[in-house]
Amino acid sequence: MLAPGSTIGILGGGQLGRMLAQSAIQLGYRCIGYAPPGDNVASAACVDFFENGWGDKDALAAFASRCDVVTWEFENVPLSAVAALPQNMLAPQPKALEVAQDRLNEKQFVEQLGGTCAPHVRVESDEDLMRAIDRIGTPGILKTVRDGYDGKGQWRIASRRDAAGVRFPGRPCIFEGMVEFETEFSVILVRAADGEVRIWDSTANEHDGGMLAHSVLPAGELIESQKDQARKIAVQVANALQYVGVLTLEFFATKGGPIFNEMAPRVHNSGHWTIEGAATSQFENHIRAIAGLPLGGTETRFASIDMRNIVGEEALTAHRILAEEGEPHLHLYGKKEARDGRKMGHVTRVSHKRP
Ligand code: AMP
Repeated sequence: MLAPGSTIGILGGGQLGRMLAQSAIQLGYRCIGYAPPGDNVASAACVDFFENGWGDKDALAAFASRCDVVTWEFENVPLSAVAALPQNMLAPQPKALEVAQDRLNEKQFVEQLGGTCAPHVRVESDEDLMRAIDRIGTPGILKTVRDGYDGKGQWRIASRRDAAGVRFPGRPCIFEGMVEFETEFSVILVRAADGEVRIWDSTANEHDGGMLAHSVLPAGELIESQKDQARKIAVQVANALQYVGVLTLEFFATKGGPIFNEMAPRVHNSGHWTIEGAATSQFENHIRAIAGLPLGGTETRFASIDMRNIVGEEALTAHRILAEEGEPHLHLYGKKEARDGRKMGHVTRVSHKRP
């Protein structure tokens, strides 16, 4: 167990790191962050913050020398940076990053464990793309194998003719058949070092332009009926990775069952509702897991929950939300620039307590 006053290092400087650090502070820890220079909003909750490149081995060593355990809030931390840190300090283990950073790897990993993915093939040229379209059909989505998040690095292709207008981006991609889903959901779980797993309820997730916009509970009958199958796969993934901390798997709920989309080896936007809505939040349980503390309950505390992201300039007037009925819980991330499509905060509304 990590003693009170110990230091947790967080790789990445975004809102997830900020909320992780807030939970760590509550449990008596101190956090130090590390990310390349930028609008690192996690720094507000850290006692110190290294703004250095991922390739700066000296800075990484200096960072590690001040930490008792190191985790991440961002799944695209280069593996070379993680490899430069003392491996026994890391939680989760970097294998989870290795799998999740590569869309082909993660799909293969999940398929081997019995999960179902959308039809997909690797694409490395314009010719490959045409062949992939012939094989899988349209509509489909071209996605970069690496570095994609929030709908970035993705191109929708409605027809073969459409593909002529899409230039191969010069990096390995996959072409994936469009899934006819009814709704989307994620399984968010926490796993402790001794193998104990706890799972939060799955919200119904709505995306806008590839980015999560809205999560609600109850999630509806379809998700309820597919949740257990998805949970089984998520637990198998966590066990196979000997995972410690919070792990997220995203699924499409289709008429034919859950289809795995992608995983995030970290806390997740679709779990922000757990701060007010669950017995223990995803952020607190991640800290508990990596610190070797007992895990907290994951039960939902309210009959209904609604979490909405605050994006771009909406944030400039977001304090108005506080005057609304029903005591909305507003979280603003303190980002300096309210750019279009940038996640600036979120608001969670809860109904009456569950009886
Ligand atoms: P991703 O970055 O892969 O999570 O994609 C972001 C969002 O784009 C997903 O949550 C879906 O809303 C949509 N999307 C991605 N892949 C597919 C697909 N194969 N079929 C239908 N929608 C998709």
